[in-house]
Parts: sequence; structure tokens; C-alpha cells
Amino acid sequence: MMSVKCSRCNRPAFYYRPYSGEYLCKKCFPITIKEKVRKTISKYKMLEYGDKIGVAVSGGKDSLSLLKILTEISKGKGSEVIAITIDEGIKGYRDEALKLVRKVSKKLNVRYTVYSFKDLFGYTMDELVKIKSNISACAICGVFRRRALDIAAMEEGVTVLATAHNLDDTIQTFFINLFNVDLKRISWISPISKPSNLFKIRRIHPMIELYEKEIALYAYLEGMPLQSTTCPYMEEGIRSEIRSYLNSMEDRHPGIKYNIYYAALRIAERLKSEVKAVRCKLCGFPSINEVCQVCQLRSTITKIKSF
Ligand SMILES: [Zn+2]
Ligand SMILES: [Zn+2]
Repeated sequence: MMSVKCSRCNRPAFYYRPYSGEYLCKKCFPITIKEKVRKTISKYKMLEYGDKIGVAVSGGKDSLSLLKILTEISKGKGSEVIAITIDEGIKGYRDEALKLVRKVSKKLNVRYTVYSFKDLFGYTMDELVKIKSNISACAICGVFRRRALDIAAMEEGVTVLATAHNLDDTIQTFFINLFNVDLKRISWISPISKPSNLFKIRRIHPMIELYEKEIALYAYLEGMPLQSTTCPYMEEGIRSEIRSYLNSMEDRHPGIKYNIYYAALRIAERLKSEVKAVRCKLCGFPSINEVCQVCQLRSTITKIKSF
């Protein structure tokens, strides 16, 4: 690609974007990523003037990039950005991530706050994985992490909660739910969840229309620190098979991931009318069953522990 020039300026290109046919240089590429996020935000009306924006930041490249982009985009719009990190209590892994969040937040001049599983639920993940149950560590962690974020967002008084889901995560999740015949979870797929009586904070996914690969490249070009450790409890299961299948499809048919994404959104939209959220009768948080997943998990853990 030595002699090819950037489609936007005259500098030498370093990246070819198959789905759009563009050649991009190192200067223009990050600009296109920011533009895409800005477009997604305006397309789905994700942000309003004066918003207090909570950004869920795990310390991974996606969420650190989201924090940077949202901080830049919201400047001069009367908005405030706060980085919210959930400390699951995973020794080694989470400590490193927390350092990265602190470093990037300071550089961006953004306030950051940490909420821990231990404080909120009484157990760290390191303790929870020792309790033998038939529920996977990732499932337990996911349920508690979503709830921890909701609690943090409420306590911080944010008007909107942004998470760094990308296009790849979203369509992988769509297939996983499809294979599990889990129509309720398919109905949740959406770039934005408007506030309701049950949960008054807008939830948004401003990077939902970006490829994971391109976010990684953005993070690299912008000098984002990279985490060296991976989660010790990660079990990929079927997700890694779906990921490699979708990647090979995309190589042969550039843009096909976008088609799958739009199909998933339409299917989710149709299913939404069939799934009604209620208030959990134990904790009052929104739930699709009488008792929410968090309360179900807590009672399972208590039962196992008391034996
Ligand atoms: Zn250029
Ligand atoms: Zn509950």
C-alpha cells in the first residue's frame, strides 16, 4: 500500500476499509472513528445538552476509547463526563485495569469513581468462583456487573449511562441468544434504551456501529494503554466460534456484519412488544421475571453457602 494515497487527504494511506472502499492515513483514520460515533449519537438522539454522562469504563481498549471520544465530543455542550468502574474483585486482573482507568481519566481531566462487588453484594468475584454452582463465572459476573453499574449511575446522579458495546459484540450476542432460543434477550438489543418508570436513566451504546478491529486500531493510534492480563475466569464458550465464523464471513463479504446488525435491530424491535419489564418484587429493580436475576443469584449463593 506504499504508493496509495489517503482518500481524504494526500498523505500516504496505511489502512484500507473494505466495506467503504476508502484508503486512510494515520491522521484521518481516528477522525473517521470519532465522526462515526458522533453520527451514531445523533442518529439515535443519544445525548442532550447538559447531560451528566456516566461512562462505564472497564479499562479495556474499547471503554477507554469511548471515554476519550465522549469527553471530546461533549466539550462545550454543558455536559459533564464521569468514568464509572466496577471492581469485581479479581486480584491481579482488575488492579491493573483500575490503574489504566485512573491514568486515562487524569489525562482527560475526567472524574472517576469505583464501585465494588464486595461493597454492593458482599462478595468479590474471587470469592464467588469458589462457591460451586452450575452457573458460569461469566454469567454471575455479568449479572452483578450490570446491576452494579445501574446502582453507580443512580448514586452518581447521571442522566445517561454509556457502555462500550461494539458491532462485533452485539451481533455475537445476537447469535448466542438465537442459539439459546432466548427471545427476551434478543429484544434487548438496541443502541439506546429510553428512560422508563422502572429505570429513569437513558442507556446508550455510542460505539455499537463500529467494528472491534477498528476500535483497536483507534486505541493504538491514540496511544491508549493496553491491559497485559486477561481475566482468569474467562470462558469463551460458543462466542469464540461465532466470532471467527463472522470474521471469515466479513472477509469474503465486506459489510455483512452491518447487515446482520440491522437485521438484529429489526427483529429486536418486533419482539419488544412481547416482552414486558416489571419491578422485581424483592429489590424493585426492573426485571423480566417476578424475581430479578440478581435476587435469584443471591438466593442461590446463600442456599449453597448454608449447606
Ligand atoms: Zn488522510
Ligand atoms: Zn431483584
